[in-house]
Amino acid sequence: MANTGDLKSLADSISSVTSPFRNYLSDLHEKYQSLTEGAVADYIPELALADPNWFGICVATVDGQVFEVGNCTQTFTIQSISKAFVYGLALEDRGRDYVNSKVGVEPTGEAFNAIVLDEGTNRPYNPMVNAGAIATADLISGQDGTERLKRMLDMFQRYTGRGHDISVPVFMSEKSTGNRNRAIAYLMLNFGMVGEKLEETLDLYFQQCSILVNARDLAMMAATLANGGVNPCTGDRALDERYVQDVISVMLTCGMYDYSGEWAYRVGMPAKSGVGGGITAVSPGKLGIGIFSPPLDAKGNSVRGVKVCEELSSEFGLHPFSVGKAKRDLAEWIAGSADIDSW
Ligand code: GLN
Repeated sequence: MANTGDLKSLADSISSVTSPFRNYLSDLHEKYQSLTEGAVADYIPELALADPNWFGICVATVDGQVFEVGNCTQTFTIQSISKAFVYGLALEDRGRDYVNSKVGVEPTGEAFNAIVLDEGTNRPYNPMVNAGAIATADLISGQDGTERLKRMLDMFQRYTGRGHDISVPVFMSEKSTGNRNRAIAYLMLNFGMVGEKLEETLDLYFQQCSILVNARDLAMMAATLANGGVNPCTGDRALDERYVQDVISVMLTCGMYDYSGEWAYRVGMPAKSGVGGGITAVSPGKLGIGIFSPPLDAKGNSVRGVKVCEELSSEFGLHPFSVGKAKRDLAEWIAGSADIDSW
């Protein structure tokens, strides 16, 4: 016999069929599913296995409503999206002044894996490029690599509300092919910008890139930032409120690789993408968006993900500098219509 929980989720799933916002997302999904531009990352064989048709869109609001369409439970590796969140943990571990002395907050306009440091300070430009992300991983506290990784995984769990595994094949491939990252790391060691436990830190960086997430996780992570660092579904604090603004600011200026300026102009939502095909985007005080679609454009951003964020931003007026009336009123569209069954 069905228990009350089953009945509730059945009732919720029926109500979700008529949810206007979910229907809007379904139309958006259908519209861009047929977009076949871009190419799946293939710098390691595991990423090349991704199905280019996978496509999930999830939106989570700061009051805990979750809407999802498409492949929202398909896992993939978080890759560069991890950088924003690990930056938050580094700020908590070391404080803003110390972190700022090791990693800048200036966009580079160069590719994410560029071998370039600020000439004046020898700091990597920002935490979203590989150099800055490795320097940031170096700042994560813990007795050894195992403890440092566990602290990262615990942090991601606070953001998403569920435990995370690492893709061991992706980690092994990242490690065995990661000589460019190794070169960046040793250049920083040469300038005294990272500590001596550099091989441990490199492993940690390759592991953080290999954490498995899905589109729903990315939406919850963004919604948590949008909600001042507290996961709106679990009530767990994932990031000290003092650092939320820091993290989402660098997401806005540096989160979309060397497309970040265009992104700020067109979309305006602080966001971070990864070569696994994920994008997480934050509308502060409102909602978080998680998108998964593996084909990437020339800059390394998910083609469908960019389109969906552009459209959500313009339809619902999610650009922070938007001054006109939005075409669609977000509050009206999402009021009481979530896929509660999806949580
Ligand atoms: N693991 C990748 C690297 O370090 C991360 C790249 C990415 O998502 N941009 O090169």
